[in-house]
Order: sequence, then structure tokens, then C-alpha cells
Amino acid sequence: GATLGVLGGGQLGRMFVHAAQSMGYRTAVLDADPASPAGLVSHHHVKADYLDAAGLAEMARLSQAITTEFENVPAQALDTLAATLPVAPAGAAVAVCQDRAREKAHFTGCGVSCAPHAVIETQAQLDAVQDELLPGILKTTRMGYDGKGQVRVKTRAELIAAWDDLKRVPCVLEKMLPLDFEVSVIVARGRNGDVVNFPVQHNLHRDGILAVTTVPAPGVSGAVAVEAVESARRIAASLDYVGVLCVEFFVLQDGRIVANEMAPRPHNSGHHTIDACDVSQFEMQVRAMANLPLVEPVLHSACLMLNLLGDLWFPGGIATQTEPDWPAVLALSGTHLHLYGKTEARKGRKMGHLTVTGSTPEAAHATALQAAAILGIEPF
Ligand code: ATP
Ligand code: MG
Ligand code: MG
Repeated sequence: GATLGVLGGGQLGRMFVHAAQSMGYRTAVLDADPASPAGLVSHHHVKADYLDAAGLAEMARLSQAITTEFENVPAQALDTLAATLPVAPAGAAVAVCQDRAREKAHFTGCGVSCAPHAVIETQAQLDAVQDELLPGILKTTRMGYDGKGQVRVKTRAELIAAWDDLKRVPCVLEKMLPLDFEVSVIVARGRNGDVVNFPVQHNLHRDGILAVTTVPAPGVSGAVAVEAVESARRIAASLDYVGVLCVEFFVLQDGRIVANEMAPRPHNSGHHTIDACDVSQFEMQVRAMANLPLVEPVLHSACLMLNLLGDLWFPGGIATQTEPDWPAVLALSGTHLHLYGKTEARKGRKMGHLTVTGSTPEAAHATALQAAAILGIEPF
């Protein structure tokens, strides 16, 4: 059978490998970590850095098509592979997603609004920041995730100090917006330009990390849902994107929506699609990269997804490394446990997720609250 290659061996790669294998593909994972979650379950595990020429050559030799699960894989690695085999998404599209300044320029170019912001790469740009951008959030343009590389600043003095703290690397200062809540939309686009989308997802963040995703998204009007979905589709089409793309949006207290950022891969807010949709975001990634038909996915169950962070292995703040009480959670009807095979629990580390499905949103919510109480997750 054919082999599909993925750059990156984290949990997203692991769930991609599972989807590819269940469709009869063999898989190849590129990740230097010998214990990477995806490498552990893949037919081939090439243990090399993303820019290692021999590693890339081995991936090209093994694979019939290549995708990525890590948004900061150097675009150069994708370009190198694209010389000899199909790569989805392309390096050029991934490069836009890796840079907050380019990402925001792309949103604006597609007629999608984003937060008022200023790019800060020089002292002169720092000096020229308008007062109306404060209070704001200073974010490194590259490499941030889970709220890392971000500083909230109320005053100009705090802004100056924060840029120093961030070693004066290129940054974007965003105005702090009055959020009502956050949503995301996952789309998949094929080589022929066909686009499908998953239903709008409601995302609750805690300490800058996604905590709970709820679908159908509560509190989202039909108009907001249509605007979010149309925006995500337009963003994908104008990147000439092939593969799975997630766009995060803020819904503001006045009801307007603005795009926050996008990820050129399956997304944490789409993990529920494994258990609550007829086609998962990972199967959609397989279909897009292998040039198979894309069909509109159907949500067959209301659901909530709870992230299982390493904190759960430290009950009461004590480093016991005791496993949470999975049997008690699994005794609840509609719970689907996913653990990523990471041996060491660390605070803030994504160890797994729990999807709770129900026949109604209320039923799913009630079961999710029971599971959260067992695990020591704050109610939502
Ligand atoms: P991710 O793990 O999603 O990639 P990230 O580190 O790239 O996260 P962002 O998504 O930019 O960070 O921001 C993290 C969270 O901070 C957002 O989900 C939102 O809750 C809050 N936030 C970010 N920007 C703003 C803003 N301009 N106004 C208000 N809240 C914001
Ligand atoms: Mg991000
Ligand atoms: Mg984000």
C-alpha cells in the first residue's frame, strides 16, 4: 500500500497516523524525538531534525505524499519535499500561518477583520504606537503557542518593558478586545478547490490554553456562524490551500467577529470530530493530501471536548504522577478517552483529551460536568 508522510510527531501526528492506518495506508513520521507520540505508532519513524537533508530524503523515498502536524516546521522543509512529491499544505501557505503579521495582512486582504494592531520590529515602530492600541497584548510574531510569547500591557511603560523582556524580537501589539467568547472553524480544501467545513466550535481557554470545546457552539447566532464559516473558506481559497486549516475567531461583546489566528493543520478544537462526526478532521487531512473526495462532515452527536493537561497528574498540587481515575470516567455513558502516550506529565502539557457525546447538548454537558468533577477539572 501507499505510505503517507507527516512532519512532526506530536499528538496531532499520532491521530493522523491512526486515521491513515485505518484507511489502509502505511505512515512515515519525521521527528527527532525517539519517543514522539506519533513515531511510537507509525510504520516508519525517521528520527531527524526538520531541516536534516538525509531525513528529508528518507521521508521523500518512503512517502507518496507529505503533510505536517506542526505549524512551525520550517517552510523550507516543505519546499524541499515538494520538489519530488505532493506536499499539502504548501510551504508558502504554512509560511503565512507562521507569522502573525503576515497572517493578519492575509485576513485583511480577504475582507476578514482582525484586531487593531501594530507591527513592532524597530524602536521607531515602538515609539510610533498609537495610544488607542492600549491596553493590549504584545505577541511575538513567530513561534508562540498556548499563550507563550505573549505579554499583556496596560501602559506605554509596560509595553516598553515587555518588548525588552521579549528580547526585542519582531512582535505584534494587538488591542485588547472585549471578548464575549471564542469560536473556531475547521475547513478542508482539496487540490481541485473543493472546500468542506466542520460546524462552528465554541472554545473556552484557561490560562491561555484551550480547556473545553463545545459543539454545537452555544450562543452563536446563525449570522455569526455563516460569517465565520464563509471567512474561513475564503481564507483557505485565497491561500490556494490544500489540506486542513483551522481559523480562530473572537466574538466581541457587540456581536462582531474578528479573526485571531489560524493553524495550517488539524486543531485541538477539532478533536471531538473523531467521536462526534462521521468523518474526523484527521481523516479529512488524509483525504485532502491523498487527493480523495472531500464530503461535508456531519455532526452526529452533541459533544464537549475536555483537554487533559498534565496538571491532572498532580492532584492537590502534589507530584504523585498518579493516573487520574479513568475507570470512573469511563463508567459514564458517552465518554471517549484519548491519551497520547506521553510518559511524563508536566503542568500545562497536553496529555490527552476526553470527548463526551450525548443525544442533546444538555445531556452531553451534564455528563461532561460529572467527568470534570471526577478528574478535578473546574466546572464550565
Ligand atoms: P494557540 O495555542 O491557540 O496557538 P497562541 O499562543 O497562539 O495560542 P492566541 O490565540 O493569539 O495565542 O491568544 C491566546 C488567547 O489569549 C486567546 O485565545 C484569547 O483568549 C486571548 N487573546 C489573545 N488576543 C487577544 C485580544 N486581542 N483581545 C483579547 N483577548 C485576546
Ligand atoms: Mg497560535
Ligand atoms: Mg490561539
